[in-house]
Amino acid sequence: MRREAHLTLYSGSREHYAEMPRLPVGSGTTHSTPRSQEDSVIAARKIAGSGLVSAFLCILLPLAAHPESHALPQGDVQAIYRRLMQKIEPIKIFDHHAHPGFGDDADVDAQSAPPQHLPLRARETNPELVVAVKALFGYPYSDFSEEHMRWLGETSTAAEKAGGIGYWDSILDKCGIETSVANRVAMSNYLDPKRFRWVFFVDSFLFPFDNKLVTGENPDEGVYIPLQEKVLHRYMQQAGIAHLPDTFEGYLAFISRILEENQKKGGIAQKFEVAYFRSLHFADPPREVAADIYRKYRSGGVPTPQEYTAFQDYIFRYLVTEGGRLHLPVHLHTAVGEGDYFSLQKGNVLNLENVVKDPRYLETTFVLIHGGYPYFRQVIWLAAMKNVYIDSSEIEVLLYPSELKNVLKLWLETYPEKITFGTDAYPYSAALGSEVGYWLGVRSARDALAAALAEMVAAGEITEATALKFAHGYLHDNAVGLYPPASR
Ligand SMILES: [Zn+2]
Repeated sequence: MRREAHLTLYSGSREHYAEMPRLPVGSGTTHSTPRSQEDSVIAARKIAGSGLVSAFLCILLPLAAHPESHALPQGDVQAIYRRLMQKIEPIKIFDHHAHPGFGDDADVDAQSAPPQHLPLRARETNPELVVAVKALFGYPYSDFSEEHMRWLGETSTAAEKAGGIGYWDSILDKCGIETSVANRVAMSNYLDPKRFRWVFFVDSFLFPFDNKLVTGENPDEGVYIPLQEKVLHRYMQQAGIAHLPDTFEGYLAFISRILEENQKKGGIAQKFEVAYFRSLHFADPPREVAADIYRKYRSGGVPTPQEYTAFQDYIFRYLVTEGGRLHLPVHLHTAVGEGDYFSLQKGNVLNLENVVKDPRYLETTFVLIHGGYPYFRQVIWLAAMKNVYIDSSEIEVLLYPSELKNVLKLWLETYPEKITFGTDAYPYSAALGSEVGYWLGVRSARDALAAALAEMVAAGEITEATALKFAHGYLHDNAVGLYPPASR
């Protein structure tokens, strides 16, 4: 329905659609009709004089000012790309999803990577990784032989030993990142709180009972679930409790207390990795059902898969609701994940449709981390909801820039004000540390972004000025508007 309204108001090219004023969204991003276009319409009205001619020109002029869009490029894509890239390079970035930290820091993630078959670009045979460590650390070799890798290990150990916040700040500076999210179990004193914003994990609240059945599902869960249990115990220690609260109300109060405390400690969002552990489809069981299951298994016994799922469905929705009350956006892992047993079907982002389109949660901001990849064509339509945003992290390193360009282009052509940049920088290995993740993610994204926008300009979809507005939005503005400033 909204599209039809646009067509009635704006009979011109797609640019009018992108630039028409939208309902205010979380970031406050709005687009207005360009002044030059308004001016030309007003001038035409003055010249025309008669009402009928004036009305006719009002329809025609915007069409004349912006040519129709085309399937094939109408201009020199390479030249447009170079012009745009010159202006995109200096844009300071807000990295919406990353796990900064040294390789031996256990607080980096709530889970560790199980053995897996890495996709081509993430393998240590990728020559781009050598380019990255040369650029970042002055790596003096051109391969990753065991002996040469020791050099990298020693460099990292020396930086960790030296302490202070300078090292990680300098990594951000080298990559052109102003601020990075630090999605970690806990913050570290080697991360500057002005530049690294904490996003904490909340999945562990979904696993308070005997997890024997879940842990035994496959080798990956055998790695993940015990770590979730550790995080829950840590939260219990934080709340000063030795065992689970006696009542369901007490359990919910414990969850809220941790959310509030973590927010006071600088947390800006809550993160779910839940797609690694179960389906992203959350049913809507009544509170009594969840309370009964809690009473039954609080002090022992193994819940059936059906019982555990129903309990988790309720707790997930509780956390989403609290995210609205506390203005604590909900970040959700929504792409293919690590490990060979990650279920694409259970992790399909479309499973979340009933939650993100539920009017009860309009106060909650959702960030669909990793853009639902490989379901990137579908995910952008969830961003029609004013409170739903998409992050492109992980896609930058799973894919090469030539394909990332296609992902970004589709998103930029649909809801450009709802897409955000992230690297998913993570200490995967000595060769692919968080530092390299930042470098590679930023380089690939700037390149793919400039290419996608150049194609859109050459096809007559948008002007170069609009392209740069979209670039600022994606790399910085769209995400930064979702969080309070880093003053505390
Ligand atoms: Zn991540």
